[in-house]
Amino acid sequence: MGFLGSLLNSLIGGGKCPICGTPGAQTEGSKVRCLNPFCSNFDPSMKQGQPGAPQQPSQPGQPQGQPPGWRSGGSAGPTVSIQYKNFQDQSKTFTADAASLRRVKNHIIAKVAPKGQTITLSRSRIQNLKEVESHMPQRVAPDQDWPSPKERQVMGYHKKNGTTSPLYEKIRAKYPNW
Ligand SMILES: [Zn+2]
Repeated sequence: MGFLGSLLNSLIGGGKCPICGTPGAQTEGSKVRCLNPFCSNFDPSMKQGQPGAPQQPSQPGQPQGQPPGWRSGGSAGPTVSIQYKNFQDQSKTFTADAASLRRVKNHIIAKVAPKGQTITLSRSRIQNLKEVESHMPQRVAPDQDWPSPKERQVMGYHKKNGTTSPLYEKIRAKYPNW
């Protein structure tokens, strides 16, 4: 049978199945393993490792402690624990999405677990304010007053339009991170 075997091998030298012509077939001695599931040479084990084969998504959406999606854009960025003392002097700890932290005047706005609701916290009641603020963009220095509505309007206008003016430069010098 040596002749037949070599004939077979020469026929499928291009890696094509001699029966159906599907490329990517493999020979083992006189046996042909074909990728085509409708071919009599078909070998199911060939399917594995075949490029383009559908793969299971690595994250099948199983709960992982926290419900997915409570953070901004479903991000997996860092979280910050906020130690807060409310007006009744009760201590609370919030787990906030660091990317969601924003300061508005003397408040900090944060998106918190587990539902991703947005809460507003008074800065003076946050026990670990330094740590919390180290995770957010410092639009104004910690001891600095919030810019006036006029100043905010000027900064917002020029930022949006990509323009500048002497007044804008002056205000920007005061709030370089705005
Ligand atoms: Zn075949």
